[in-house]
Amino acid sequence: MAEKRDYYEVLGVGKNASEDEIKKAYRKLAKQYHPDLNPGDKVAEEKFKEANEAYEVLSDSDKKARYDQFGHAGVDPNYGAGGAGGAGGFGGGFGGMDFDLGDIFGSFFGGGFGGGRQVNPNAPRRGEDCQAKITISFEEAAKGCKKKIEINRIETCPECGGSGAKKGTSATTCSECNGRGQVNVQQRTAFGVISTTKACPKCGGRGKTIPNPCEKCHANGRISRRVSIDIDVPAGIDDRQVINVRGEGNKGVNGGPSGDLKVAVFVRPHPFFERDGYDVWCDITVSFAQAVLGDSIQVMTLDGKVKYDLPAGTQPGTVFKLRGRGIQVLNSRSKGDQLVRINVDVPKNLSAHQRELIRQFQAEFGDSAVQAQTYGEDEKKSKFGKKKK
Ligand SMILES: [Zn+2]
Ligand SMILES: [Zn+2]
Repeated sequence: MAEKRDYYEVLGVGKNASEDEIKKAYRKLAKQYHPDLNPGDKVAEEKFKEANEAYEVLSDSDKKARYDQFGHAGVDPNYGAGGAGGAGGFGGGFGGMDFDLGDIFGSFFGGGFGGGRQVNPNAPRRGEDCQAKITISFEEAAKGCKKKIEINRIETCPECGGSGAKKGTSATTCSECNGRGQVNVQQRTAFGVISTTKACPKCGGRGKTIPNPCEKCHANGRISRRVSIDIDVPAGIDDRQVINVRGEGNKGVNGGPSGDLKVAVFVRPHPFFERDGYDVWCDITVSFAQAVLGDSIQVMTLDGKVKYDLPAGTQPGTVFKLRGRGIQVLNSRSKGDQLVRINVDVPKNLSAHQRELIRQFQAEFGDSAVQAQTYGEDEKKSKFGKKKK
């Protein structure tokens, strides 16, 4: 693998750059190297990829923090030598969580284990939910896509089939609690004898003892595994929305159902398009002559370029609508619109001859247009305020 460049260097921002500065820097690069604008240019393609990768990390506060601390190895388990086995070092703990998504998910993990309530250790229990995140492009969000992701999750141990006992042996019911997992304790207090229950000290509340534990799962019956899962990202999904994939979380216990997989989706900004709900905004700059005379122009949409007849006399700031060229509405067949804002490029650095032509134009045209925009100010302030006689 080639040496990777520093992500801050790639985007050309400082270490203290704000979220907004990072977004702006990314959009600028994306504009420059977007494959649509550089067809067949391998260098541009690489630069575009590099910018995407840098943005994916620096726009995500968790990944950014890990990158700041550990460099590339903090965000890419395959980076450098000895990286195999990967994400285990970074929060891939028992919960099977790849990342800490606290800000998006809230505390999903409040319940589940522990807690004060005593539960039957042999009752079926639902597996915990797993969390993951993916970053997709603006176009992928608009049209939907399929993604493969890798997560760590808890699965039934294949070695012992979940019993926790070494092959050929089995767990035995705990003789102390007879499988209840709890024992009664009598306590003498000032108010008399109080009977309470506590976890069985012999089996630790499991209700079973395993004389010969499975070597693979150390009697847990479940193990953490890295698995690859196909995710159907629906068209219309927006930045920071969460996809729930049922039953792809941690395996349940004692025959309980599996948890779900919650996938937080991050959408990279597009160099030209800005999303507003299901509508897409873009800016187009036309020449002075095109605005004045009208022209047939090409407008980039999510479905490729379309022709638009710019009417003569189009004013700067005019917004026209391309119906149904926006983003597909989530779980629906309808689509938003594309809104195109027209900028007019006023010619600069004119030659003497060109300036003369404009003067002639102005003389011919008169000053009605200019007067209309002086808003009652003293007419002398306007360069063209005086009509040439
Ligand atoms: Zn096992
Ligand atoms: Zn016991």
